[in-house]
Amino acid sequence: MSERLFFALVPGEAERDAIHRALEAAGGPGGRPMPRQNWHLTLRFLGTVEPDGRACLERAAARIRVAPFALTLDRQGSWRGPGVAWLAPSAIPTHLTALNAASEAAALACGLAADERPYRPHVTVARKAPARDTTELPEAVPWKATAFSLMASRRDSRGAVYRELARWPLANTAFPA
Ligand code: ATP
Ligand code: MG
Repeated sequence: MSERLFFALVPGEAERDAIHRALEAAGGPGGRPMPRQNWHLTLRFLGTVEPDGRACLERAAARIRVAPFALTLDRQGSWRGPGVAWLAPSAIPTHLTALNAASEAAALACGLAADERPYRPHVTVARKAPARDTTELPEAVPWKATAFSLMASRRDSRGAVYRELARWPLANTAFPA
């Protein structure tokens, strides 16, 4: 059965608590808030993938070597068209760029089309949100990225539902066999 997939950083409880506090300090996410369990930072959207493709992506992901890194969500803003309200880092860590590039390489190696759009790391916190200027978050969100995940996305009557299919620890060296 085909699935709609994406690679993502999944926040731990400490990060979720910090996002929650940041949103409170900022006066709420606006629009239709994304539920806490849905918060994530997409590394590479993969689209609809067949089981063979998923197996290929999992093999490729397991070979990715990027060290753990820290990231700070210190900005909020929205995208006017889709009404997406987001939190984002003003400084993109080189390791996040590397992880995005490695995800892209994995996708290409597994026969997916190239993603031509520039990578804009963000955490969606609301939909149907009013347009707002990009501003500094009153309370920044520290995030320790120690793993990345393959996620499946589907819709139910209440909106998007994500499921973590696999997770790989970030490490710049291979673990001993
Ligand atoms: P829905 O589309 O059901 O309203 P969603 O956008 O959260 O919810 P998906 O469309 O499955 O769910 O997307 C999963 C993740 O991939 C989200 O973080 C989304 O922003 C991102 N994404 C979706 N399409 C693209 C794309 N074409 N390019 C980059 N990222 C994308
Ligand atoms: Mg979508």
